[in-house]
Amino acid sequence: MNQRTRSVIVVGGGTAGAVLAGRLSEDRGLSVTLLEAGPDHDAYDAAVLDPARASAAWEGATPNATTPMLLEKGGAIPMIQGRLLGGTSAVNGLATLRGLPPDYDAWAAAGLEGWGWKDVVATFIAAERDVDFGSSPIHGSSGPLPVRRWRLDELSRAQRAYYDGMVEVGEPVVADINDPSQLPGLGVFPVTIDEDGQRVTTSLAYLTAEVRARENLAIRTKAEAAKIEVADGRATGVTLVSGEQLAADEVVVAAGALWSPMLLFRSGIGPAEHLSEYGISVHADLPVGSTMSDHIGPGLPYRHGGPRGGVGGPAQVLVVGASNGTEIDYHAFPVAPVPSEDETVFMMAVFSLRSSGRGSVRMGDTPGSDPIVKVPPLPDDAPGRLRHAFDRLAKWEQSAAARELGCEALMPLDLNAPDAVATALERVTLSYGHMTSTCPMGPVLDADCRVHGIDGLRVVDASSMPSIPSGNTYLGCVMVAERVAVKMAATEPRQ
Ligand SMILES: Cc1cc2nc3c(=O)[nH]c(=O)nc-3n(C[C@H](O)[C@H](O)[C@H](O)COP(=O)(O)OP(=O)(O)OC[C@H]3O[C@@H](n4cnc5c(N)ncnc54)[C@H](O)[C@@H]3O)c2cc1C
Repeated sequence: MNQRTRSVIVVGGGTAGAVLAGRLSEDRGLSVTLLEAGPDHDAYDAAVLDPARASAAWEGATPNATTPMLLEKGGAIPMIQGRLLGGTSAVNGLATLRGLPPDYDAWAAAGLEGWGWKDVVATFIAAERDVDFGSSPIHGSSGPLPVRRWRLDELSRAQRAYYDGMVEVGEPVVADINDPSQLPGLGVFPVTIDEDGQRVTTSLAYLTAEVRARENLAIRTKAEAAKIEVADGRATGVTLVSGEQLAADEVVVAAGALWSPMLLFRSGIGPAEHLSEYGISVHADLPVGSTMSDHIGPGLPYRHGGPRGGVGGPAQVLVVGASNGTEIDYHAFPVAPVPSEDETVFMMAVFSLRSSGRGSVRMGDTPGSDPIVKVPPLPDDAPGRLRHAFDRLAKWEQSAAARELGCEALMPLDLNAPDAVATALERVTLSYGHMTSTCPMGPVLDADCRVHGIDGLRVVDASSMPSIPSGNTYLGCVMVAERVAVKMAATEPRQ
């Protein structure tokens, strides 16, 4: 039987979208168009590629999108996201973590077949080329993403003082923080960098020159989708902001946890009540944007004299877990984007990894304006759950390593005080930048990431995660995209 080519538009060439375009175009039966709102790889400057300058990228040195995220008790966290090929994998902290088995087993237990730990770990292994561990029962040696851990001599001075101080106060050292059997403990972040120590975004890894030469793949940058066209319950294509219309058999939205819901809203998919406020006719009444997750926690700012030092990116060493389980992580990271020879400011961040609170994404003044994003609230028992980290950090402040570097709290606080966590949260609440679950599998998508009630439409990115994993989310987005690409290639073409 002659099978005609099936056309697929992927909206968003970010972390997940680049993986999708690379993998889907391996299938000659598919004709793939990738639409990215931002520019191509030529926009990558030193601030993108040099991990030590990643926080300069957060300050607008590179093409990016800034969205304020509103805190429950007032105030806002400015959130930077990549708006270029590679998306947020071009501006993030490069940390390459998987999350923990119970995260994914909970997805499977909720009826999402094929998303349990044993399923997803196989994909994590296939996606990586682990330079430190090579091929092993939990690591891979032939995937597109080169992964290794920072070496201790690459750490910044503050991160080294954090590492050495934590060893001094008795935190057990973990050789491989991606091996759940070794946790909890203190470890070095695995990162996605090449042999020259430069950042490898998902587009550099998956959209190589060889892939880009494929005849069945068109990559269009500076091509922003305004709307998905839907007729008779089926997605039929995409209209660009320029007014150009593109038809397709299938549309895959991969615009990220804040922008995928916005595109769905403008296309008539979302809570009917919200859409009707803007006069948008409803194609599917679904709780899009209503269940946003993130890792949230207090930040304790410190300084030391002299330069930052080291060549590592922002995420270098961390403690995962506590006496009460693996549900927190805490680490130091540099916050001052402008390098100074005189002074270095860094933040000790303590995050709750099992985040049950739900934030939201909603349209602003007009359907085309920036989203209004509400940060998920921390649960009432968060101060108790984060207590263990504060006890440890109180000891770290007194460690020889911290004192030798002259680390000084910029907002002094008795970390042993019973209300220290609450006070710190009132002063500085941070987001890890791990927004997920705004179009979750279950309420909005089926287990193949297809939008309920609309044929030919999927959402495949951080939005699709039914709940947030207990780890940094970039690699999870890669995993979701890899797994859905396999499912799509196996789907029979439409007649
Ligand atoms: C500052 C920061 C640091 C982080 N650090 C880490 C880290 O160290 N490790 C980690 O694991 N995670 C980290 N994260 C989180 C992680 O990077 C993200 O969860 C992940 O990259 C999101 O991938 P995504 O595919 O969902 O979206 P993105 O990678 O953001 O991709 C979305 C893409 O869609 C494009 N787009 C949006 N709207 C449209 C449209 N209408 N038409 C066409 N294109 C569109 C965007 O330009 C973008 O390229 C960080 C996040 C932030 C914000």
